[in-house]
Amino acid sequence: MLANLKYWEEKALEGKYAIPHFNVWNAEMLMGVIDAAEELRAPIIISFGTGFVGNTSFEDFSHMMVSMAKKATVPVITHWDHGRSMEIVQNAYNHGMNSIMRDASAYDLETNIKLTKEVVDYFHMRGVPVEAELGHVGNETVYEEALASYMYTNPDEAAEFVERTGCDSLAVAIGNQHGVYTSDPQINFDVLKRVRDAVDIPLVLHGASGISDEDVRKAISLGITKVNIHTELCQAAMDAIRENTENTFLELERAVRQAVKQRAMEKIKLFGTDGKADEA
Ligand SMILES: [Zn+2]
Repeated sequence: MLANLKYWEEKALEGKYAIPHFNVWNAEMLMGVIDAAEELRAPIIISFGTGFVGNTSFEDFSHMMVSMAKKATVPVITHWDHGRSMEIVQNAYNHGMNSIMRDASAYDLETNIKLTKEVVDYFHMRGVPVEAELGHVGNETVYEEALASYMYTNPDEAAEFVERTGCDSLAVAIGNQHGVYTSDPQINFDVLKRVRDAVDIPLVLHGASGISDEDVRKAISLGITKVNIHTELCQAAMDAIRENTENTFLELERAVRQAVKQRAMEKIKLFGTDGKADEA
């Protein structure tokens, strides 16, 4: 069933668990994460973003996302990740996404506030929750270089940012990074605690693929209520592809769906979301 992210994030915040956010951009990934959610009775977020349009036509794939979300017997949120402009997030909404992220985190604070607030004002009238980002989670390929000039979320700006934008949830930059970590992630829990103390809305951890289970659990215990996973789904799919090169393409794709399902189930259990679908 289609579900509301604000409702589930608030339940997760109370219950000290996190809603899994899975980036999906082909049929096997989408079906695999839905299979996992159904098997473990978990609410999940299925998400698309600009980085995938070179592989998949969103305007077509969105129909499959919405159809599978509606057909699922567990709560499913359809989300747009890292929306870089009003036009992009409006297009996402017009194609059935019921939750969006406006990411203006590459701009200075005042511009980030202004651009985020425009989107919040537009979408709150339509009942759509908006995630924003303060600090910046980048895409650098060398993690050590990213850390050297890392833009952590400033806890002293967090309360003002949330109050002035009206955003519903906040993505934090606490040493996390998108893609593959080239050395052990160094999560700054002090920054997370200070942001948690400064605001009362749900907090979001991007780039969680590759962060240790222990650190993810700790982040959730400190108020992270949505955790984004993409890279690890791709890695699970690639492992399945390597193991199935002698099989037919039909068999290979079934193996990919199964591998994505298994990895998604591991994350659902890690985040404490299993069984939560039926605790309405
Ligand atoms: Zn992200």
